[in-house]
Amino acid sequence: MSYVPYHPAGAITLLAGPCSIESQQQLDEVGAALSELGLSWIRGGAYKPRSSPYSFQGLGEEGLKILAATGERFGLKTLTELVDTTHIDVVMSYADALQIGTRNMANFELLKVIAHATAINHKPVLFKRGMAATIDEWLSAAEYLTQCGNPNIMLCERGLRTFETATRFTLDISAVPVIHKRSLLPICVDVSHPAGQVDLIPALAKAAIAAGCDALMIEVHPDPSQAKSDASQQLTIPEFAGLLEELRAVATAVGKTIV
Ligand code: PEP
Ligand code: MN
Repeated sequence: MSYVPYHPAGAITLLAGPCSIESQQQLDEVGAALSELGLSWIRGGAYKPRSSPYSFQGLGEEGLKILAATGERFGLKTLTELVDTTHIDVVMSYADALQIGTRNMANFELLKVIAHATAINHKPVLFKRGMAATIDEWLSAAEYLTQCGNPNIMLCERGLRTFETATRFTLDISAVPVIHKRSLLPICVDVSHPAGQVDLIPALAKAAIAAGCDALMIEVHPDPSQAKSDASQQLTIPEFAGLLEELRAVATAVGKTIV
């Protein structure tokens, strides 16, 4: 695979796709739309870190195969979450970039394994902030990933656990300028997981662009009501396409393009 940076200069990388990979047809429908809309990445979970053991846990390697096939078919780069050290080889073999989720930000043994596995190939890693982690703790943990020489790490703010219950998590928009001040790593904002509901996503996404994010994450599903995880926060494909038009206008206003 050729080395493709996550964050081309002057661009906002949009990491869109369903919460979970559920079938080839589901992911192809999303992939076709993303490619048609001029985007370059697709996301989707094959190993899902669910709060309940009775919830859908992901398709595992079968999901990774689906993701790779969709990526190939529509010319999209692929991002998926790695939850356990034992999955590193299989996830690395199918996906273009690895995601570390909020629940694993402080899983330092996992971070060390990823750092070693990406030391030579510099595979991009999207590193989400722990839902109860300070920025200092997050930046310190990110050094586990960079310590073996992979420079291709992107941070991702995805909302914090606070006393507020009106949203699923409280999006810390301040993290964007603070990270730009404190780190050379690019910063993504995941607007879907803090929102927890579709109607809040446009405002959060526009705020993230205005604040200076380098990438955005948005969950999209062909039929959100039937989604096996995070049904209430996933946009339909037409909703996503409409929002993208608005986001492109905001990006233009800050001198960037969405890719
Ligand atoms: C996800 O992006 O699918 C996910 C599980 O996110 P988080 O780790 O932020 O909850
Ligand atoms: Mn999700």
